[in-house]
Parts: sequence; C-alpha cells; structure tokens
Amino acid sequence: MRPTDDGGRLLELRRLSSGYGAVQAVRDVDIVVHENEFVVLLGPNGAGKTSILRTVSGLITATSGSVVFDGRDITRTAAWRRTGLGIGHVPEGRQIFPQHTVHENLVLGAYAIRRKRRRADSVTDEILDLFPRLAARSTQLAGTLSGGEAQMLAVARALMSRPRLLLLDEPSLGLAPLMVEELYRYIKQLHVERGLAVLLVEQAVDNALSLADRGYLLERGSVVSQGSAAELRVDPHITSVYLGG
Ligand code: ATP
Repeated sequence: MRPTDDGGRLLELRRLSSGYGAVQAVRDVDIVVHENEFVVLLGPNGAGKTSILRTVSGLITATSGSVVFDGRDITRTAAWRRTGLGIGHVPEGRQIFPQHTVHENLVLGAYAIRRKRRRADSVTDEILDLFPRLAARSTQLAGTLSGGEAQMLAVARALMSRPRLLLLDEPSLGLAPLMVEELYRYIKQLHVERGLAVLLVEQAVDNALSLADRGYLLERGSVVSQGSAAELRVDPHITSVYLGG
C-alpha cells in the first residue's frame, strides 16, 4: 500500500460546507478517513450523510472549507478527475444501466482507464473473479438482476476504476437480510485483503458498527459525535436513539 504524505490521512474534510441552492445540507464538517480505514457516517434522515459523499466525489460543490485527498486539495476538481485519482462512489439507489449486460455495466465503470482497452479487459476479469454471482450472469441484462445482485454490480462497477477509497451510500437499502450479509462480506473482504478504505453511509447502526473501525454521528448537517466503533456503541447519543439503550 502506498503511504500518504499526510500521516496516513487518505481523505480529509476540513470545515466543509455544501448544499443545494438555499439549502445548506453540510455545515462545517471535519472528517478524516485514514489509509485502509473503514469509517461509517450515521445519523437520521436528512442529516447530510449523502450530501457529504456527493461533495467528496464532486457531484455537488463545497460552498466553503476543503476536500483533501491523498494530500492534494481537490475541492474544485471535476468529478471525473476524482474518479481517476482513486475515489469510487456507489450512490444510493444503485444506478446501474438496466438495458446493458452485467459485463457492459462493468466496462462502462472503467471510465478512468478507458483508453487502455487491454487493461480494462483484465480488470473486468479480475472483478468478476471477486464476484462469482456476477460472473455467472455476465451476459444477463442488468435490469433482470435481483436487488442484491444489482447492488453487487454497483459495487463491482465502482471497483473498475481501481479506487483507493470507496464511498458507499446505504448499500443494504431494500435488501433481504441474507443478501445484506453476503454483500457486506464482500465489502469487508475488499477492505481487509486489498486495503481499500471505505466511507459508508448506513441506517442499520448495529450492522455498521460491527463493520467499521470508526464513525461519525451527524445531525442537521453537523458532526455531533465521533469515535471508534466501540466508543460509539456506548455513546449516549447513539444508544438512546439507535440502539434501544
Ligand atoms: P437520507 O438518509 O434520508 O438520505 P441524509 O443524511 O443522507 O439522509 P441528505 O440526503 O444529504 O441527508 O440531505 C441533507 C439535506 O439536504 C436535507 O435537508 C435534504 O432535504 C436536502 N437535500 C438533499 N438532496 C437535495 C436536493 N437534490 N435538492 C435540495 N435539497 C436536497
């Protein structure tokens, strides 16, 4: 794994604010994801979790503060360049191309390496090796996949650009519990075996804290609590509202 110049900080959000016109969704947020770290963003609906991921991948622009990736200020960098720098985003709702096959969806995900055709082919093979369920369905139209398979495809497609940081927005939404378990097993494996850093948004707090190293609790666009997964499990903000304590 390549060390960063900044004490192992792969992603750093410094007093970051962003939003949609008059709506300020994210307020002065400080968040860090270290190399090879699994970090979760928790909080109620509308807390700004999705908007943070969108600001990191460049889908919305910061109104103040900065986004630093691998020691480089990318606050004003175009979204497609951020993909090339190593930020993969799996947005809420999967957003795969239903009229294309599984294989075609993966090739479309090789955006950052699209000029290197041979390399794109070998990455597709490598990704399909990681997801046997998708390999068995590589010629099937993505629109005919089950919800869990479609979510796996969304993750696999984001991996095609070889990210160092994967942004995952509620991947478990609408999936059956067994499928959630399988999906998270793959994600944890990618994190542990390949050193992939993960920034996960998840409503299922118990599940998220069993996967993550560290986390942040957000409310109304601001960080109200943060700590290791073990600390968050006993944090009064979290136990009172989310863990039935
Ligand atoms: P959820 O779990 O419901 O997705 P969240 O914590 O991810 O919630 P965001 O989706 O980031 O929260 O929303 C933060 C705030 O920004 C909310 O007040 C929301 O209404 C607003 N918002 C989100 N998307 C848009 C948009 N496209 N246009 C205007 N306001 C938006």
